[in-house]
Amino acid sequence: MAKTRIAVIPGDGIGPEIMQATIAILEATGLEAEWVELDAGLAAIEKGKPAVPPETIDAIREIGTALKGPTTTPSGKGHKSANVQLRQALDLFANVRPARTLPGVKGAFAHIHLDMIIVRENTEDLYAGIEYQPHPDVAQAIKVITRPGCARLVRYGFEMAREQGRKRVTAVHKANIMKLTDGMFLEEFYKAAADYPEFQADDVIVDNCCMQLVTRPEQFDVLVTENLYGDIVSDLCAGLVGGLGLAPGANIGEHCAVFEAVHGSAPDIAGRGVANPTALLLSAVMMLHHLGLHDQASRIVNSVMRVCSDGKCLTVDLGGRANTHEYMVEVINQSA
Ligand code: ATP
Repeated sequence: MAKTRIAVIPGDGIGPEIMQATIAILEATGLEAEWVELDAGLAAIEKGKPAVPPETIDAIREIGTALKGPTTTPSGKGHKSANVQLRQALDLFANVRPARTLPGVKGAFAHIHLDMIIVRENTEDLYAGIEYQPHPDVAQAIKVITRPGCARLVRYGFEMAREQGRKRVTAVHKANIMKLTDGMFLEEFYKAAADYPEFQADDVIVDNCCMQLVTRPEQFDVLVTENLYGDIVSDLCAGLVGGLGLAPGANIGEHCAVFEAVHGSAPDIAGRGVANPTALLLSAVMMLHHLGLHDQASRIVNSVMRVCSDGKCLTVDLGGRANTHEYMVEVINQSA
């Protein structure tokens, strides 16, 4: 049988460590993949290439599916974020970030089962990268929101909610202040909602949303939102369910998809072999579902749940003592 071709960007910092562990776990399920390794981020810059080399973009476009480690972009040196560039170049308009409680993981909300999905617009907003300085003491950034951009994102959110049998879809915004930009987002949300009558469709202002998330998070189901709010709210949600080491993500476009953890390259722990690979692993699980490989995906999730509820082989970020390799071996053993 032909091997599944998957593009791989190991990434920077803890990226290569967690990628190695993740691929080992994927292969232990019997997945036969041809991994096509590509450069991006600091790894590319150090080879004298741009942060996102054109050949990386072309290869992902051609292969259609990529698993990506976190990338670092040097700050203050005129480099545009590799993540932002990749998402814009491949038009990966929807960033899907589930936040689910894992059994046995300690946290402020460990007693409540949380199961939310944040669907974040991924190409517009203040991330359009239009910043300028008309005067030495004034810097401006432009927030770009387009009607087609809002429409495809909210429709994707409702479609995904339908596919997953969800009940409530909530738009997160600040339309009370940003009447034109967020107002347009909200308008498109309710326009789409009319075509999905099975859902409780409602909206919440982003500051109130954050307050509700840290008091009664269990009320939320699917949150659809713009780029900047989505970035912040999804980190908050990751914190609610045990931290960044557990939070997966998928960047979805019309023609290709890039799967990556919510967290960054964690330079503070890089090279020590102690990073938690679960967020990248659960991103890979999303990738397996995307590829229709549901059995392998379920086996990995069940194994991660067993390892977490058992609690004997947790990584340091979850209060355990296991290193990346030991955790990886345990997940493989538990899925056997
Ligand atoms: P970025 O700007 O790229 O988001 P950052 O430094 O702000 O980077 P992260 O790299 O995500 O954010 O790291 C935030 C904190 O979470 C750090 O203390 C890091 O060590 C920790 N962290 C992130 N990912 C993991 C992981 N997989 N395992 C353990 N700790 C992690």
